[in-house]
Amino acid sequence: MTIQFKDLGLSQPVMQALDMQGYKEPTPIQAQAIPPVLEGRDLLGIAQTGTGKTAAFMLPSIDNLRKADNQIPFKSCRMLVLAPTRELAGQIAQSAKDYGALAGMKVHSIVGGTSVNKDRNKLHRGCDILVATPGRLLDLIDQKAFNLSGVEVLVLDEADQMLDLGFIHALRRISQLVPQDRQTLFFSATMPGQIKELVGKYCNNPVTVSVTPAATTAERIDQYLFMVQQDEKQTLLEMILLEKHPTPGDFERVLIFTRTKHGADRVVKKLSQRGIPANAIHGNKSQPQRVRALDEFKRAKTPILVATDVAARGIDIPGVSHVINYELPNVPEQYVHRIGRTARAGADGVAIAFCAEDERQYLKDINKQTDASFERLPLPDNFRAVVEGVGPTKPAPKQQRQRVKPKPRGDAPGKPKHSARKGKPNRPQGQGGQSNRRRRGGGGGGRGPAQSRG
Ligand code: AMP
Repeated sequence: MTIQFKDLGLSQPVMQALDMQGYKEPTPIQAQAIPPVLEGRDLLGIAQTGTGKTAAFMLPSIDNLRKADNQIPFKSCRMLVLAPTRELAGQIAQSAKDYGALAGMKVHSIVGGTSVNKDRNKLHRGCDILVATPGRLLDLIDQKAFNLSGVEVLVLDEADQMLDLGFIHALRRISQLVPQDRQTLFFSATMPGQIKELVGKYCNNPVTVSVTPAATTAERIDQYLFMVQQDEKQTLLEMILLEKHPTPGDFERVLIFTRTKHGADRVVKKLSQRGIPANAIHGNKSQPQRVRALDEFKRAKTPILVATDVAARGIDIPGVSHVINYELPNVPEQYVHRIGRTARAGADGVAIAFCAEDERQYLKDINKQTDASFERLPLPDNFRAVVEGVGPTKPAPKQQRQRVKPKPRGDAPGKPKHSARKGKPNRPQGQGGQSNRRRRGGGGGGRGPAQSRG
């Protein structure tokens, strides 16, 4: 028998909010975590984003806050959620507002890259739920604009990512500042040694809930692989996006990962030169730029987003149809996080990896350390011709592009800057008209680890 939300002991206002969200039944982490959290137990959740973990900690905590009915503390909060990135913090705060709307929760979020003065004013009267990145939180604490004495519930979300971003000292400090008798809900996708140390510091006999073992690739994601030279990846990307191609599924929203910020910018620039609108999101982008890029992506106004790992981790964007690993990550677990951006909350998704000769070791590590299973795709028929400059979709060669640059005088003003082909990427049908073929569940003769030649 499947567990229903009504079996979990949540209050009416929270149940109504779930109804408004259109959630029909709890995800596995929600079914397992909500009852012990309602009882006041500490929790260690080993889960990736996309599993519904935000609701798993937020829903029962909202109920507990309602039941305790304590005053909002001056310059403090009753529930503190720590998150690694601005985007994730913003998302959690939005969920808290959605889930807590009918329970009258006052929710704020504070993140780096915005005005500290505004945060100071905002927090003066305290709030029920504060979502914060650790650095900004400590800034405000050091300025005596905020304190943690009122915290009844503490959540650490994506703890392993917080460590990756160098927040270990901040987290050790914060652990000294929160009241001893609070409840702690600790979430991490992976459990390296330092995380275990932090769990020991923060949690008291926690209930452990593990929904997807670390380094497991999401089941509903079909994973494909192209073997391609590094300097030919851009051409392949453009061909995939522009042409009918054996890559399955409709390109509705495409998230592309590069290893570096410069790499992300370069891909965006080249796509733009081909008339394919795309945005980049990474650590060198300002907060307004990030917000705009995400917003345009969510609204599918600019349905291609090129990201680095740090920027994309934890971001919840419904409807990502494809994740393209333009460069393979050198940490296998990162592959799992990346492709976890698609197929969220029960949807199907497609992940495509580009692997160059010097990335073979990364591919081996991914194969060995995760349960990733790739179907290798051949390069498009006309790929060689296009790369060598004789094919029909040959990208504008450098010299040609330079020639259309404005000259000191006399160049025709109406000359196109980009290739004639503009607008949305084509929606490939897949060979034989199939769309979004399933990796599991039969019919996939010849699938499995990379075999065919590219
Ligand atoms: P999270 O892992 O918390 O980032 O959640 C991932 C996505 O799943 C979000 O878009 C949520 O709105 C959605 N979600 C969470 N819980 C449920 C549920 N029980 N049913 C359907 N969607 C859900």
